[in-house]
Formats: sequence, C-alpha cells, structure tokens
Amino acid sequence: MRQSKLFTKTLRNAPKDEVTINAQFLLRAGYVEKLMAGVYNYLPLGLRTLRNIERIVREEMNAVGGQEILMAMLHPKANWLKTGGWDKIDVLFKIKSRTEKEYALGQSEEEIVTPLVMSRVNTWADLPIAAYQIHWKFRDELRAKSGLLRGIEFLMKDMYSFHENQEDFERFYAEVKIAYFKIFERLGLTAKATEASGGSFTEKISYEFMVLTDAGEDDILYCDVCDFCVNVEIAKQKEGDACPGPQCIVNAEAGIANKGKLHAAKASEVGNVFDLGQKFVKDFDLTFKDRDGNKQYPVMGCYGIGVSRLMGVIAEKFHDEKGIIWPESVAPFQAHLLELNGVSGEAIYKHLQSKNIEVLYDDRLVVSPKTQGKIEVKRRAEKESKLVSEEELISLFKQ
Ligand code: ATP
Ligand code: MG
Repeated sequence: MRQSKLFTKTLRNAPKDEVTINAQFLLRAGYVEKLMAGVYNYLPLGLRTLRNIERIVREEMNAVGGQEILMAMLHPKANWLKTGGWDKIDVLFKIKSRTEKEYALGQSEEEIVTPLVMSRVNTWADLPIAAYQIHWKFRDELRAKSGLLRGIEFLMKDMYSFHENQEDFERFYAEVKIAYFKIFERLGLTAKATEASGGSFTEKISYEFMVLTDAGEDDILYCDVCDFCVNVEIAKQKEGDACPGPQCIVNAEAGIANKGKLHAAKASEVGNVFDLGQKFVKDFDLTFKDRDGNKQYPVMGCYGIGVSRLMGVIAEKFHDEKGIIWPESVAPFQAHLLELNGVSGEAIYKHLQSKNIEVLYDDRLVVSPKTQGKIEVKRRAEKESKLVSEEELISLFKQ
C-alpha cells in the first residue's frame, strides 16, 4: 500500500475528552475515528489490525472444532422475553418500529443461538456442537470512557457449545481454556485466568481472562509465584495475603520458602468462559433424545472474547512516547518503507510485495543519499537501526 493513497489522517493532538492511551494513540495515528462516546469507525490501518486479531481468534476457535456462523444483530422481542433478558438486562438496547413492533439489538446471542442450533439437533449423535461468530454487539454502557476497552458498539467473538452431558461439556471447556491462552499469547499478551471464587470448588465453573493494565476496569489479586488470580469483587482474600493457590499450598507444606503473596492490580477482562448449564435450553424447551431414547436437556457453555477491546489492550500494553508498538502478529503492515536516501524505494517496494510481505510504502518523502545501496532497517521497538542488503531484508521477514 502506498502511503500517498492511504485513506487516513493523523492528528497532532488527541481529542480532549479521550483520557486513555489506547484512544489517544489510535485516534492520533488515524486507526479509528470517534463517532461518539463508545462508538468508533475503523479506518484502513485500524481495520487491518482488527482483522489480524480476528484471524488469530478464528484460527484457534476452528482448531478446537468451533464452526463459524453469523447471526442476526436485530432480534425479535419474543426471544428476549422467553429468557427474562428483556426486563432484566439493563444494557439491552430496545428498538420500536414505526408499527410499534419491538426488537432488541444483540448484546450476547444465547437467545438466538439456542433455538438455531437446537432446531438441528434430534439425538445425542448430533452433539456436541460448538458454533461461534465474530460480530458486533450493542450495549447501553454507562461508562464508555476507555476508548476501545468499553464500547457501546464493539466486536466480540462469541461461541456457544451444546453437549449431551456435563462430562463432555467439561472436556470441551478445558480445551477452550487452553485455546484462549494460545490466542492471548499469539497476540503478545499474558493473560491470567481468575478463579471463580478464590480457588474453592464451585458447581458452575467460570473463568475471566485478565490482562494487567492500568486502563482496565477490573480490580484483581494475583500471585507473584503461581498463576493464581482472583477478581476482587468476589474474593475472600485481600492484598498481601498468602496465596491460596494449590501450587503455593503444596510449596508451603513442603517447606519451600518461595511462598506466593497476593498483589493488587488493575486489569481488563479480555475474555471469559461460562458454564450455562441448562438455563437457556430449558427457557426454550429444547431437548434431544439421549442414548436410552429419553428426552434430555443438553448442557450449554458460552465463551466470549472482546476482539475490539483486545486491540485497545494491546495499545495500552505496547507503546512508547511516539505511539503504539504493535506485536508483529497484529501490526497492520509488516514493514513501513521510507525513502530517506534519495534512492527511490520503488524497486524494494515491488520486491517486498512479490514476497508477500505486507508493506506500507511512504512514497511522499525524498532526502539526500547516504546509505549507498543498502537499506536502513529499524524494528519499531528498538532504538538502533542497521544497514542491510535487499536480500538480507527479505530474509529478516522470513525469520
Ligand atoms: P465487563 O465486565 O467488562 O463489562 P462482561 O462480563 O459484561 O465484561 P461478557 O458479556 O461476558 O463481558 O462479554 C464477553 C467479552 O466481551 C468480555 O470478556 C470483554 O472482553 C468483551 N466486552 C464486554 N463488554 C464490552 C464493551 N462494552 N466493550 C468492549 N468489549 C466488551
Ligand atoms: Mg459488562
């Protein structure tokens, strides 16, 4: 892509009402445009980044057997009445048509996916099924002040699974949990999974995946030795307490000095996994024939990831005073080619493109010659640049 043609515009200053780093940098660099609080337009650079995050999420969901679908965003009121969500969910957007018909905008899609999937399930042999989508959600959030971290309209990956029994649900659930850690790792992030209630056994399992960042809205306690982590909202522990995680207890009992302590931190929830039990299938009275020929309700799970929130979290975690330093896996381009030496970058641009290296070519500048046929390369995160030949440049990308 030639920068002279790139549809974007950088801003000298971020709008005054944006307080978070992610919003300031993303707006200034022309990745997104703010339409109103909590609602952003994605410009080419922002969309490329968002699509890269999506791709990683999609690959890992496909790898655990998820099947991608795309569900409606405009929902009939009847489905939301059936589950009680119409009256109970305060963030649900409700719309009235000119003929006084009422609709809801999708804020999550159990109300739609449950009848959709179950209409295609007759017997145990049709299960398990895991369907997911990557789609926009709408929520009437009161505090949309964190840039992409909290949108009124935001991109979510939501997967729903249906199983013949609890055991099969738990098998799948464990696989998704591992896939989630893979996704966050590929995005360059370290996520911690919170325990549902301070590590003790609870009937309905749920985990929240947290990334430490001061821009986050959750308060967590985490251990400095093991991977124990808990949301302060539900925690029995407080800052400074000895870690109650199983590994730390074993260490303590074995007399190992390395005992974990709980630290308080701000974090952003980038995903979660829930055991929905039979709530939704019962609301819609959707059953299947089990192995003995009896009617049964399936066990259901749901698995969310905040795709657009992740883009904001990555910006919060990786930046310097000049702007965002994207992990290579999500950067909108692998290379930014600048003509600084009076020699046209045209040939290098074409060469990189022919090798399928995504390059943003700034063809707007020409300065005096200096590097004599060599190309000056600098990784965005590093201070020093080096001179390489064109072949060496290509092999850098192949590494
Ligand atoms: P939160 O506590 O942050 O409001 P939630 O518990 O409401 O999150 P879910 O309904 O389970 O979240 O949504 C799944 C995922 O979608 C969350 O883990 C989060 O990453 C993301 N998400 C939720 N609400 C928003 C929002 N308003 N803007 C951007 N991402 C969001
Ligand atoms: Mg919420």
